Amino acid sequence: AKRMRLDKLLANMGFGTRSEIRRAVKLGRVTVDGAVVKDFGLQLDPEAAAVRFDDEEVIYRETIYVMLHKPQGVVSATEDTRDRTVIDLLDPEDRVLQPFPVGRLDKDTEGLLLLTNDGKLAHDLLSPKKHVPKLYEAIVHGDVDARDQEAFAVGVTLDDGYETMPAELVIGEKETKEDGVYSRITLTIHEGKFHQVKRMFEAVGKKVVYLRRNAMGPLQLDPELPLGSYRPLTEEELLQLQ
Ligand code: URA
Repeated sequence: AKRMRLDKLLANMGFGTRSEIRRAVKLGRVTVDGAVVKDFGLQLDPEAAAVRFDDEEVIYRETIYVMLHKPQGVVSATEDTRDRTVIDLLDPEDRVLQPFPVGRLDKDTEGLLLLTNDGKLAHDLLSPKKHVPKLYEAIVHGDVDARDQEAFAVGVTLDDGYETMPAELVIGEKETKEDGVYSRITLTIHEGKFHQVKRMFEAVGKKVVYLRRNAMGPLQLDPELPLGSYRPLTEEELLQLQ
């Protein structure tokens, strides 16, 4: 069994600073297995003990895995001096576990973002050797055609000279506006260079005007999840990722 001090458990789960927690325990606001405990240094098994703080159940966990439906206007970083970050969209009790985004979406890109504090899972998903597929949906200014499909299937040269790996482009509906044709597409890439989707279209002379990610490896964005909200991964989703 695990052993942990009561004050450490409460601090780790975001119930306050160590000194705030010690004061609260001494005031009798914390119960363990139904009885008030005033010894904040009590050793307990955090997975087995029933701890309540002001009668709220304290649920012990070490890891966090959530999918976020990222809206435009927030950055995929844990801290930023100017912009709101994806971490700002999380509830405090989730933030205390210090999750970080697995990979990045641009500030103006929407869609699936996985957040976790599991460094190994993040590392595996981002490893360039694993070629985890990422499915994007975009609106492109320009008439995306079969030549672009072939170019992406072979690989295009980005502005910095990088040759992209084969990618699957599917062409959807087109709409003509005053300033030209707009094409709806989906694109699956197996790598993740900086601004990759936008730069691939630039390489064929077209401009991405809207971008969202719908899947990463086996993980698909839950269509029920509103923009800006998130939910924990299900057991099944987590198993598929590992
Ligand atoms: N490619 C981009 O250009 N931007 C993203 O946010 C993701 C992939």
